[in-house]
Amino acid sequence: MNEPAPTKNLSYRRFKDGETIWNWPDLTKKIFQQDHSYKCPTYIARTPPCQSSCPSGHNIRGWLAIARGMDKPPVEGMPWQEYAFLTMVEANPFPAAMGRVCPAPCEDGCNRNEVDDFVGINGVEQYVGDWAIQNKLSLPAPEALSGKRIAVIGGGPGGLSAAWFLRRKGHSVTIFEAHDQLGGMMRYGIPGYRTPRDMLDAEIGRITSLDGVTVRTGTRVGKDVSVADLDRDYDAVFWAIGAQKGRPLPVPGNDAENCVTGVEFLEMFNLGWALSTAKRIVVVGGGDTSIDVASVARRLGHITQTHRHDTAAEAGLLGHTAHDVASALTRDGVSAVLTSLFPIEQMTAAEREREDARREGVDLRGGVMPLEVIKNGEGVATGLKMCQCTMKGMVPQPIDGTEFTIECDMIISAIGQMADLAEGLESLGNGRSAIAIDSVYRVRGKDKHFAGGDAVRPHLLTTAIGHGRIAAETIDHFLGGELEEKRPKVDVHWFNLLEELHQRHLDPTPYDHTQSRGTSSAKYAVHNFEDRGANQIIPHKDLFKGHFKYVARSARDERHVDAEHVLGDFAERIVGFSEAQARKEGERCMSCGMCFECDNCIIFCPQTAVSRVPKKDRAVGRYVQTDYGKCVGCHICADVCPTGYIQMGLGE
Ligand SMILES: Cc1cc2nc3c(=O)[nH]c(=O)nc-3n(C[C@H](O)[C@H](O)[C@H](O)COP(=O)(O)OP(=O)(O)OC[C@H]3O[C@@H](n4cnc5c(N)ncnc54)[C@H](O)[C@@H]3O)c2cc1C
Ligand code: SF4
Ligand code: SF4
Repeated sequence: MNEPAPTKNLSYRRFKDGETIWNWPDLTKKIFQQDHSYKCPTYIARTPPCQSSCPSGHNIRGWLAIARGMDKPPVEGMPWQEYAFLTMVEANPFPAAMGRVCPAPCEDGCNRNEVDDFVGINGVEQYVGDWAIQNKLSLPAPEALSGKRIAVIGGGPGGLSAAWFLRRKGHSVTIFEAHDQLGGMMRYGIPGYRTPRDMLDAEIGRITSLDGVTVRTGTRVGKDVSVADLDRDYDAVFWAIGAQKGRPLPVPGNDAENCVTGVEFLEMFNLGWALSTAKRIVVVGGGDTSIDVASVARRLGHITQTHRHDTAAEAGLLGHTAHDVASALTRDGVSAVLTSLFPIEQMTAAEREREDARREGVDLRGGVMPLEVIKNGEGVATGLKMCQCTMKGMVPQPIDGTEFTIECDMIISAIGQMADLAEGLESLGNGRSAIAIDSVYRVRGKDKHFAGGDAVRPHLLTTAIGHGRIAAETIDHFLGGELEEKRPKVDVHWFNLLEELHQRHLDPTPYDHTQSRGTSSAKYAVHNFEDRGANQIIPHKDLFKGHFKYVARSARDERHVDAEHVLGDFAERIVGFSEAQARKEGERCMSCGMCFECDNCIIFCPQTAVSRVPKKDRAVGRYVQTDYGKCVGCHICADVCPTGYIQMGLGE
């Protein structure tokens, strides 16, 4: 088990070194005499920051509580992994893919960073996702078909997510995909050693095997099917066409034939059309795409002898002719330089990916900008002229006198992508190669058309998946004639006590609407609970962090490939968590904003006013109860609640 050394604040400390004065009389007074109030504890659910930082809105605290064993499966005999999987797919149907390649903004947001180190969230996500694949789990049965038909354009993560959530709500879906296979950039951008294809096929297959989901691959909307056809045949349209066009380098000479974009290069590779690359390449970028290009190039290598029919350009990125003979030829290493406008540590690619690239022999150079593509007399690029730069916001400022040229045989521009809105899709554009949407993901100026994912703003897989989920909800409202113009402030999955009670057959009884007095124990209401999940994120300062001891985070093992061995190595690098590691990370979660059944409030209440809810009535969020006849409003329970679930408020 790989355990990183403690690097940060080892634990939360109430006192600093040298603070020795302990004012006992005052404290005793505070606790036992002074703090009588008219306020009693109330139980407040808020959204944890991990969840609000996850663009797909994953119920992270929920599935970590399952991994820890606190939230038990509601069905006898159901393994915890299955329950965690069913919880995950409520927000994101791609746990195995996310767990591998999501840069995990959730972990940056995790409150545990203020105690020792973040919870290894995406390690748990991958573990559960892989378990679900190994155990051939299906998605939960969707609702019966509503008779409404939705066209989803684009079979990448955004379109597939929308398809799942739309079908879930009972609508039939047709996915139109230009490529021969579904997956979008998960298949045609990201290389297979990061998103293994059998894993992708399994996660996609779960969605496409649902009845009511139809797939039309090899069909480009705009060319093979018109927007007017969609308007005629479907009740709503969701556009998730991604950003398929790479941006060329904004410098003179960028039209050289051996100057290509990162997405073109990777698509050729992923289609199996590029078995080799040029001897010396320069990749300009700094994000995920540029890292993938350089790392793929290092793996592909360069074939020293090319087929006599290949042209100069094909010698760099081989075509079909050379394919047939490539495997018989000698393969040499490739020198790959990756340049970025920003300093290396500020590159947008995840740190782990940067470290891997460096280890694999990619020469990373930060704080440099391209000036000109140097071409020979035949129009072929032979070098990239660059200089050092500083950044003013997003605009590079050249530093005079620092010019230099990197000699190369191929230049790859990986500086961003844009939506391809040519060939019949021109009316969707916002003038900046993206689709403009309003706050509920509706395409501006187009009735019954919605859009999301990279086509709206290129970002991450999890973002496109989140857009798909939210758009599915707004489309469902639109079809029901009640489209709200506003989304919740915290637009993620949040804890729903009524759903929790429902799955445990503990629903409140129906309300008969007769006037009555003394309703504090009436069974038709959920007492003393407030759901602020859609509006409030719980900050670390609201937790009792002193409760949590330092526990080292489990990190996934990685198969590191060094520069000497990278050639031809296309095997996966991450080694998933064991069950014990996944459970341990579940235990490290501080359950911000939700009771995790620690008993502190019961133990510390001086009035014995707090007790456990009887076992038969227990559910997540309904573990403790207060006897308001005994409570004196001293707020000790709220002070010692590690999760910030208790607030003194009742009576205000
Ligand atoms: C090389 C690379 C590496 C990346 N690495 C990461 C990473 O490590 N982590 C991460 O989170 N994100 C990463 N990303 C970003 C991530 O892949 C995208 O944000 C995500 O795929 C966007 O999803 P999408 O569904 O909006 O679009 P896409 O995944 O691009 O899917 C769009 C689909 O629409 C289809 N399509 C387009 N036009 C039409 C049409 N007219 N008719 C029919 N079908 C059409 C396309 O063929 C495609 O399949 C990476 C991106 C690239 C390019
Ligand atoms: S999808 Fe990404 S941000 Fe969301 S929980 Fe998974 S790793 Fe975290
Ligand atoms: S400690 Fe748990 S609930 Fe709190 S932010 Fe981190 S993962 Fe989320």
